[in-house]
Amino acid sequence: MAQEVFWRSKTLQQMTPQEWESLCDGCALCCLHKVEDEDTQEVFYTTVVCHLLDFDTCRCTRYEDRCTLVPDCVKLTPKDVDEFHWLPPTCAYRLVHEGQDLPEWHPLVSGDPLSAVEAGVSVLNVYEVRDDQITEDELVDYVID
Ligand code: SF4
Ligand code: SF4
Repeated sequence: MAQEVFWRSKTLQQMTPQEWESLCDGCALCCLHKVEDEDTQEVFYTTVVCHLLDFDTCRCTRYEDRCTLVPDCVKLTPKDVDEFHWLPPTCAYRLVHEGQDLPEWHPLVSGDPLSAVEAGVSVLNVYEVRDDQITEDELVDYVID
């Protein structure tokens, strides 16, 4: 009998560090800036992306130092799963947490590390400007409806 793949057979908390890392599909949608409504705590995505993104590979140029260089950069951990509702609906961590399967363009399914980019579901198809091209006050002008 074929063995069940780990993202269906394990919870996020049961995954090894390697499995956890491999779950990221490389979409970089979480590298878009977000704004929070102070009254409702609702989170809205913008089309403003972090300046540390590599626009050819759709990967972080400073992954190891990201949290130091960009204090807003979010490092996902298994302890935070209850907060994952703010992640993009296609994010693999959110999908697994919500009991859904991975899409066919996910690198773990396709076998191609760039398949999210090639499928047109990455931040490269969404962003309008880098955060070092606008002022902080202008961020709200880029909220995605
Ligand atoms: S949104 Fe999720 S899957 Fe996409 S890059 Fe961020 S953590 Fe990885
Ligand atoms: S520091 Fe890297 S991982 Fe963090 S938001 Fe910027 S590009 Fe994305």
